[in-house]
Amino acid sequence: MIPESHICRICGHDMGEPAWEDDNPNWLICNCCGSESGYEDTSVESVRANRSNWVKNGCKWFLLDAKPAEWDLQAQLNRISQKWK
Ligand SMILES: [Zn+2]
Repeated sequence: MIPESHICRICGHDMGEPAWEDDNPNWLICNCCGSESGYEDTSVESVRANRSNWVKNGCKWFLLDAKPAEWDLQAQLNRISQKWK
């Protein structure tokens, strides 16, 4: 089970370390959607708008080298907590 703090609020990617600790962002750039914790993900409205843009642009990977060979977009999106959906 991936800790919720490791999950990108925008795309659901497992960042491998906490993007947020309590209410403090760690300014982590998501390898998948390219958003940074503390900038694009501070409110539900902003998270939704950024996710919607990312999806509209074809769910492109920010760091293509990090993309798993068998990437499951839906499973990744399903990881997003109810609070940020
Ligand atoms: Zn992301």
